[in-house]
Amino acid sequence: MSILSAPKNLTRNVLIGMALGVLIASLFHYHLNSSALFIFVEKYLFNLGGQVFKNLLMLVVVPLVFFSLVSGISSLSNMVKLGSIATKTIGLYLFTTGLAVTTALIFGWVFNLSGYEGEVASFTPVAGEASLYDTVLRIFPNNIFGAFVENNMLGIVFVSILFGIALNLTDELTGGMSKSFERLNTVFLKIVLLIMSFAPVGVFCLMGSYVMAKGLNIFGDLAQYVVLLIFVLLFHLTVTYSLMLKFFANLNPFIFFQKMRNVALFAFSTSSSAATIPVTLKTVTDDLGVKKDVSSFVIPVGATINMDGTAIMQGLATMFIASTVGVDLTLTQYAQIVLLAIITSIGTAAVPSAGTVTLALILGSVGLPLDAIGLILAVDRILDMIRTSVNVCGDATVSCIVAKSENELEEKIFNKLG
Ligand code: ASP
Repeated sequence: MSILSAPKNLTRNVLIGMALGVLIASLFHYHLNSSALFIFVEKYLFNLGGQVFKNLLMLVVVPLVFFSLVSGISSLSNMVKLGSIATKTIGLYLFTTGLAVTTALIFGWVFNLSGYEGEVASFTPVAGEASLYDTVLRIFPNNIFGAFVENNMLGIVFVSILFGIALNLTDELTGGMSKSFERLNTVFLKIVLLIMSFAPVGVFCLMGSYVMAKGLNIFGDLAQYVVLLIFVLLFHLTVTYSLMLKFFANLNPFIFFQKMRNVALFAFSTSSSAATIPVTLKTVTDDLGVKKDVSSFVIPVGATINMDGTAIMQGLATMFIASTVGVDLTLTQYAQIVLLAIITSIGTAAVPSAGTVTLALILGSVGLPLDAIGLILAVDRILDMIRTSVNVCGDATVSCIVAKSENELEEKIFNKLG
């Protein structure tokens, strides 16, 4: 086993951690929920443990993205390639998100998604996170350190690209400084692996804290919405991505999904594409064979702007809310939903429940009441976990396709199993 390989039996241990977390937390939720022990276990075991684990993952995101992007770009032999990678990446991200929300609307229409008839929980809408204007401005921060301190991923990507290009052009002058960045990148990869070896415990706590609070009823009173949403998410994940991998890159989807298991589990348990970046980056580079100059750009950008799962939720939630309040959406409004879902997915932060907040932007612009979001909040926790897994698998799919088209995919590594 090399110093940089993943912890042994990670998937199995993470699954065991998840199952134990659910089991023990349900015991508390259903049988010991009035005890003082309940409060203690919820706060100091599950919540604290889960938060510490998420913090550890987030801790490495910024340096990892910076060093891998800088070392990837500084080793590029020609800069035109960078432009071509960026154009394809962004084009494909917009395309997959558009496809995702359109699929959701078609399924919603075919299955005649109907509204809610019970009592509506109260909800105070929060203003949507970021307009297109703000998002563009975030790409160009006015303070390098500000971007890093604020975890502004698009700004960090921009600064890293700029730095990488300058390093590339001055490598001789600086005595081969790019090698030092390469080495630092290796150190951060090792940190990711060290953190990942605690994943089974981290995931145990995260799952436990969800179940302690909400129990096991993931459906609430919204069975049709929940089932249809899960169905479309799985459809997009398995059918759309498989077809894209096969037709755009002639890659075997089964191998892809097998290697993405851990990434999907991390995304599921953290509900955050951003916190999953370290794991996605490592898997896509080391197991799927995408070279670092592609993965180090495509993955952090994808985690920030590409959210197919979120777009699917937003499409179906808008239909569901329209039907609840008795509004018949017109064809123009459907087109508006597709366009807005693409734009909001760019502005949605890659953290838990962010998509539910930006849903307000879509509802507002098609004239639906924002407080109707209260309807879907009860079931949003589990749906967020599933859609985040879809979001990160979408990022990985696009990185394989872009890498293949740029001759930057090592198919030997992609096809190697076991
Ligand atoms: N949790 C999602 C993510 O991080 C965003 C969302 O849909 O709420 O990708």
